[in-house]
Amino acid sequence: MSLPHTVPSWAMLAYLAAGVLFILALRGLSSPASSRRGNRFGMAGMLIAVVTTLAIHDLASIGEILAAMVIGGLVGILVARRIAMTAMPQLVAAFHSLVGLAAVLVAAAAYLAPEGFGIVGADGLILPASRIEMGLGVAIGAITLSGSIIAFLKLNGNLSGAPILLPARHAINLLILAAILGLTVWFVFDQSPWVFWTVTALSILIGFLLIIPIGGADMPVVVSMLNSYSGWAAAAMGFTLHNVAMVITGALVGSSGAILSYIMCRAMNRSFFGVIAGGFGAAAADAGAGAKTDRPWKRGSAEDAAFILKEAQQVIVIPGYGMAVAQAQHVVREMADKLKEHGVRVKYAIHPVAGRMPGHMNVLLAEAQVPYDEVFELEDINGEFAQTDVAFVIGANDVVNPAARTDRTSPIYGMPVFDVQKAKTVLFVKRSMGGVGYAGVDNEVFYLDQTIMLLADAKKMVEEIVKAL
Ligand code: NDP
Repeated sequence: MSLPHTVPSWAMLAYLAAGVLFILALRGLSSPASSRRGNRFGMAGMLIAVVTTLAIHDLASIGEILAAMVIGGLVGILVARRIAMTAMPQLVAAFHSLVGLAAVLVAAAAYLAPEGFGIVGADGLILPASRIEMGLGVAIGAITLSGSIIAFLKLNGNLSGAPILLPARHAINLLILAAILGLTVWFVFDQSPWVFWTVTALSILIGFLLIIPIGGADMPVVVSMLNSYSGWAAAAMGFTLHNVAMVITGALVGSSGAILSYIMCRAMNRSFFGVIAGGFGAAAADAGAGAKTDRPWKRGSAEDAAFILKEAQQVIVIPGYGMAVAQAQHVVREMADKLKEHGVRVKYAIHPVAGRMPGHMNVLLAEAQVPYDEVFELEDINGEFAQTDVAFVIGANDVVNPAARTDRTSPIYGMPVFDVQKAKTVLFVKRSMGGVGYAGVDNEVFYLDQTIMLLADAKKMVEEIVKAL
């Protein structure tokens, strides 16, 4: 059982075709309108890559491979059917950890049985180029593995979302990173087991240490950064396995994940390197005081809301995590349709980190068939609140919290937010005054003169508003 050391030219062509399809997939995914087509390109590319790899490898019998694919496919279908949309970020983090684990296992297999991978030189030692690939593969894979486990635990609520700050963490992290780099170079000259396994162990440790200090509000960037790491880990594996398709796919995932992380950092006004380095600046943040319900606030009913909405000229809907939990997107569209019948202009404002995964709100609104031309990004609509009659905040909280502008001690300080307080009326749908957003902080908007709190489950409240309309 071994890997082919030369790849037939037809297979190289097939891998190239798969690579082109992956690029078309990314292109398609850049807009909601073309995302389905993008997904189809990606699926076709993956089919070509998998079939080609199976055709040219002599790793196991067809029966064994089919059995593995059926078992894996069944687990995938079961997980995909059972997972709630709101739990997607944890699922994605769990998947990233598997990519990291696979990279570590491939590197370990290549290290322990280099003959099978065709990477032994005339001197009987592993080729220096392969040692570089292996060192990088195991280091990036191990960081992705442990970092993703911590991200999973934080997103799943098993670990507190608040930053866990170890004393002298930057010095410790720098030391460990320097040791990993030094030992990876050392491994090129000395393939002793202690070097390989120390790189593995230190990389697992640094993965934990890098993600633990990152606070809740920065988790979206962490998820997309781990996505990028998992791509680089796959690319490194591709070199070890002599698989061009894997190198191309890994590089595409790695670079697109890095670009997404950069865009999200800009959207949240965070320093890219600060987040990568693990909680730089987090010490300045206060974990948040929670809601202070002893201040005066106004409560309204569905009928009050329906009356105000009907009278408005322009309504901007700001959806957030709570709309996803309540699965209220369909009834929100129904409400918008009714309002349009009354001559009201309805727009949707999407914050880049609303919900719990990049693009979460876009996916929900697309599912409810909200027209794309009614959906606006933060920078395109934020100037409109001053001319808007009603800001309808449904299940969003952190993304409309003015503390992000005014309170230097707030964990969300610096993140651009919607200026809903500039609208004539703010209708704020959430279940209770005590419930806070992901960052765990109180929100001044609840107590404004023009704010009416609509306290109920988002779906129930909007259903009642639709009835009243
Ligand atoms: P938030 O998490 O700030 O707020 C959610 C709000 O929804 C709460 O006020 C909650 O209040 C309410 N809510 C929950 N369930 C329901 C329900 N069934 N019906 C009505 N309301 C409900 O959401 P945002 O979308 O504003 O902000 C996203 C936050 O998540 C940001 O801090 C972001 O950094 C973070 N994050 C984002 C990720 C991403 O990739 N987008 C990934 C990880 C974290 P109550 O309990 O009282 O109902």
